[in-house]
Amino acid sequence: MLRFKTINTLFAVLLVVLLVLHYFYVLPVGFVFVLVLGWLLITVMGSAFIRWNYHFNSLHHSKATEENHIAITFDDGPHPVYTPKVLRLLTEYNAKATFFCIGKNIEAYPVLFNQIINHGHTVGNHTYSHSNGFGFFSTKKVEEELRRTNAIAEKVSGKRLKMYRPAFGVTNPNIKKALQVLRLTPIGWSKRSFDTTQLSEKKLVARVTHNLKKGDIILLHDTSDKTIAVLERLLLFLKSKNMQAVTVNQLLSIQPYE
Ligand SMILES: [Zn+2]
Repeated sequence: MLRFKTINTLFAVLLVVLLVLHYFYVLPVGFVFVLVLGWLLITVMGSAFIRWNYHFNSLHHSKATEENHIAITFDDGPHPVYTPKVLRLLTEYNAKATFFCIGKNIEAYPVLFNQIINHGHTVGNHTYSHSNGFGFFSTKKVEEELRRTNAIAEKVSGKRLKMYRPAFGVTNPNIKKALQVLRLTPIGWSKRSFDTTQLSEKKLVARVTHNLKKGDIILLHDTSDKTIAVLERLLLFLKSKNMQAVTVNQLLSIQPYE
């Protein structure tokens, strides 16, 4: 498996070898540039694709699930329009889910945040600002974002969040350090719907239900009507397959709160 440290060591050794060859045997310097470009490409992809576990391990699914269980996760809420619709549907189909909330949204909609918990679902940290530049934040700034969100969540609900869902699925050494300091568990996914893109409802449902198996973790966003429609069709599908949606912490047998 590709790991940041292993790749760095490998590329550093190769770089020294190429530089020596360049010095003694007049190897074109272009080889060095190709090597550096290769390192950059692997590192950018490793940072963008959370499932590579390039910088640190995230929990993407449960291998140990014996029951016919899966977990549905919602990122980016709470949202005043869509989160209540999601809650209604989950109640109607007797399903439990996990909501990875943005700190500033918890601050804006504290009652909704507590409603999620009171409905028997669990909540996790999804940064304070969900800034597009989050992947370039310093360790200190990442720590501030995560600490601030946890403080707001605790003030609003009394819960000390232990689960973290990386914003945009981005990982890097700064986020790794911040998670270690705050003792947060990174939660990934095995089924990404891409429900925030232009993909049609039909395609989204197909993406999520294709080869869906027990132990899978589904990523959705409680931020659009399209997702609400996808969710209803997903819940009908689960019912037809006798599958039960549980919280991600139940699926993974971990503690959601301290
Ligand atoms: Zn997000």
